[in-house]
Amino acid sequence: MRWIGAVAVGSLVLGGVLFTSSATLSRFVFDRMAERAVARDLREELPDGLHAFLCGSGSPMPDPGRAGPCIGVLAGKRAFIFDAGAGGARRLARMGFPMSALETVYLTHLHSDHFDGLGELMLQAWIGGARAAPLPIAGPQGVEEVVGGFVDAYRIDSTYRIAHHGAAVADPKGYGAVPIVLAPPAPGPDAARVILSDQGVTITLIRVSHPPVDPAFGYRIDYKGRSVVISGDTVRSESLVRASKGADVLFHEALQPEMMRTLAAVADDRRATALSQVLTDVLDYHASPVDAAHVAREAGVGLLVMHHIAPPLPVPFFNAAYMDGVQAIIGNRAIVGSDGLLISLPSGASRIDRRKIL
Ligand SMILES: [Zn+2]
Ligand SMILES: [Zn+2]
Repeated sequence: MRWIGAVAVGSLVLGGVLFTSSATLSRFVFDRMAERAVARDLREELPDGLHAFLCGSGSPMPDPGRAGPCIGVLAGKRAFIFDAGAGGARRLARMGFPMSALETVYLTHLHSDHFDGLGELMLQAWIGGARAAPLPIAGPQGVEEVVGGFVDAYRIDSTYRIAHHGAAVADPKGYGAVPIVLAPPAPGPDAARVILSDQGVTITLIRVSHPPVDPAFGYRIDYKGRSVVISGDTVRSESLVRASKGADVLFHEALQPEMMRTLAAVADDRRATALSQVLTDVLDYHASPVDAAHVAREAGVGLLVMHHIAPPLPVPFFNAAYMDGVQAIIGNRAIVGSDGLLISLPSGASRIDRRKIL
């Protein structure tokens, strides 16, 4: 009996040591991670150039691994955000995207999955970015109504934050947003025009095809010879091909039609007829991965990154089915985008660096 007691006491002592050390170790690691995670500004670590932060690679379909459409762009020290899908702003904060440098949010179109994270983004830009003026949000006609709605919806919250943190942290002058209506380029294969050109940064507005949503936009960003194009939501579009000529990176939306049809058939079997119809209807105003590959090849882009990914791909194992047929068109110059991907295009170089920072 004595050895049983000794083992029991020994186990208790060992358990206590392990418990203490695991808590201590856990706290030690947490403290080290906090140093890297809180208020990090990646501009201090990145070379001069154009950098794209993929903060949301998902679609409206529920996807635990992907936030809604969102891409942060750093052009030198200047910051812009394209689309504000739900969850994207929180991803950006964790990626070290400098909210304090944010100049403008550009919306591709007014489908709600592209702006349903706007409230959170406004809040982070205001407090996290220490804004002293409302955030400019640009988009197609109707952006005034969308932005006005978010400003109204968050006004009560803003009064609590000003009262609690004080004006030095939550500057009342920095609350809210101002809409900027972007007039669409005339339709046609060359439907694009420059909307910003200063200090070496050029942003080109591209009119794409996403009926009945019209106008719907894509954007091209150029800085010191490097370039990124963001398709917005569109079917295969000639204007996008032309505006993407020679770009380093193209982020193109893509829904995989066969996989979507499988989901629609299952919904149909379960008598979820409205869902089944939606899953089928969406195919006629989106591109497939193969469509995106054709656009990328015709435009001669360096790297195609799929985003606005549907259906959800819960594990990378399904990437092969999603990308079926892409390699035959564009070889290995295409990847499936994922949240936390940082693509860097250093100025004065031609390489395309990519790494996951989430
Ligand atoms: Zn859309
Ligand atoms: Zn969409």
